Amino acid sequence: MAVFKPENVEDFYEIGEVLGSGHFAQVRKVHERATGTYWAGKFLKIRKNTCSRLGLDRTRLEEEVDILHTIQHPNIVTLKDVFESRAEVVLVLELVTGGELFDFIAEKENLLESEAIEFMEQILKGLGFMHSKNIAHFDLKPENIMLSDRVAPHPNIKLIDFGLAHRFQQGDEYRSSSGTPQYIAPEVITSEPLSTAADMWSIGVITFILLSGLSPFQGDTDDETLRNIIIMNYEFAAQYFSMTSSMAKDFIQKLLVKDPNERMTAEECLLHPWIKPITRTQVAKRNRSSINMKSFKKFNARRKWKMSYNMVWMCNRLVRLNLLCKGRSEADPLERQCESDVEDGESKPASLLRRRLSSSS
Ligand code: ATP
Repeated sequence: MAVFKPENVEDFYEIGEVLGSGHFAQVRKVHERATGTYWAGKFLKIRKNTCSRLGLDRTRLEEEVDILHTIQHPNIVTLKDVFESRAEVVLVLELVTGGELFDFIAEKENLLESEAIEFMEQILKGLGFMHSKNIAHFDLKPENIMLSDRVAPHPNIKLIDFGLAHRFQQGDEYRSSSGTPQYIAPEVITSEPLSTAADMWSIGVITFILLSGLSPFQGDTDDETLRNIIIMNYEFAAQYFSMTSSMAKDFIQKLLVKDPNERMTAEECLLHPWIKPITRTQVAKRNRSSINMKSFKKFNARRKWKMSYNMVWMCNRLVRLNLLCKGRSEADPLERQCESDVEDGESKPASLLRRRLSSSS
């Protein structure tokens, strides 16, 4: 069981600049006073009472911490320490300085499949390790695939954000409707029992995007995206996949499979000829094929734009909630908290579908 230290994090770490933000967390660079080492502090608000939808459940956080303790692997972010105050938990994590993999790739002029595969292999190794411990990530998407150091000749992948991750116990039937529409597996949408295979679907989607700059199931609305996933409405459009090897398409086809039991596992992926070629012809094919950089850059620019739009939307929302709370400062504190959960009446950007029914089993 992970220890949540009751001490004040600021007694041990100097809090620095913001590195990123999520729905419930703000991540800041922190400086360890005793050693001078830099880390990433993930500051998470804890839900104060059951009627509030703001903040995270403490048990959910315990699961995130417990999982991070279990999965120590070179391609997974490391957890150093956990602090807890009345309203907040701070995870002290390894500082990942290389930014997102997709941003790193989008800056390149061109990229061979063989170079893209080096990254895919690391992602699969990290994931395979988690899966061997019966842990699923359940939120694989470009934002959660980072690089430890972008100037290294072979940058190292780090998987982050285990906020939706789940450890399967024997006989456990786990259902969840959380995730990001573009990347979720059909069984998430249809509320069937989940397994680590749901991550493998997301790997199929991520590989598809990486090679073509197209998101296979993306519709004009979230509903349309979810429908496309259910009916498996995707194709390798010739104008986007003209530079792609047949092995890469085969790799994707073996992941975008409706039946989770029929999908390739991470271990099987690592043995697929696209990742681990056996013949010289296979090696040559990977070196002749490249990713559709023009389309990929466009995809990434749109993705970044959507992320900043969502961030502005959330900030505005928080300002409004804050004003609402101030205006009602005489009200009962419990009532005030419940009233601040007025989110559902408004339309949300796509990514806010995440964690709406967080980790419901
Ligand atoms: P989400 O709402 O997407 O689930 P979250 O609230 O769980 O997000 P994270 O995704 O873990 O939070 O972190 C938010 C952002 O902070 C990341 O997208 C990334 O930019 C940055 N970040 C997270 N962990 C680290 C780290 N260890 N080192 C550097 N930056 C990090």
